[in-house]
Amino acid sequence: MNKAVFLDRDGTLNVDFGYVHNIKHFKLLPGVLYTLKELKQRGYLLIIITNQSGIERGYYTERQYIEFENEIYSFFEDRGVTIDDIFHCPHYITICNCRKPKVELFYKAREKYDIDFMVSYAVGDRKRDLSICNIEPVKGILITNAKDDCYVTVTTFPEILNYIQ
Ligand SMILES: [Mg+2]
Ligand SMILES: [Zn+2]
Repeated sequence: MNKAVFLDRDGTLNVDFGYVHNIKHFKLLPGVLYTLKELKQRGYLLIIITNQSGIERGYYTERQYIEFENEIYSFFEDRGVTIDDIFHCPHYITICNCRKPKVELFYKAREKYDIDFMVSYAVGDRKRDLSICNIEPVKGILITNAKDDCYVTVTTFPEILNYIQ
C-alpha cells in the first residue's frame, strides 16, 4: 500500500486570488517547492484535491480547466517535483459527493493508488479540506493563523514537515 499527502490547491500551494484558472496567476506560496520535494523524499504520493466550482459557475470551462491542470503538472515537473494526480470537483449547483467537505475524491484516490489512510495526511487552508479526517484515520493539518483544537495548525506550508513523519 502507499502513503499520500492530500493537498488542497488554492491558498495551500499557491496564492488564492479566487478562481485561479490561468498559469499566469499560479503563484506558489513560500517554501512550497522545497516542502513538496521533502515529502517525496519521505515517500509520499502528492495528490491535489481541489474544488473547482468555477466550472459550473461558468467562469471557465471544463476544457480550459484541464488545460490549466496540465500546465500545473508541467509547472511542478519543470521545478523538479512530480504531482502524482489532481482530482477536481466541477460542481456548485449540482448536488454531488465530490465537492469538499464531501469526500468522494479521497476515496477515488485511495482506490486508484491503493493508499493507506492510516499513514496519510490531508493539508489545507480551510476546514472543509480536512473533512476526511473526521471519518477516516487520515491526519489533518490546517494552515491558518487561527487556533483550533481539532487539528494541528501551522501558519506556513513548510511547517507541515514538522508533523509528517
Ligand atoms: Mg484552499
Ligand atoms: Zn462535485
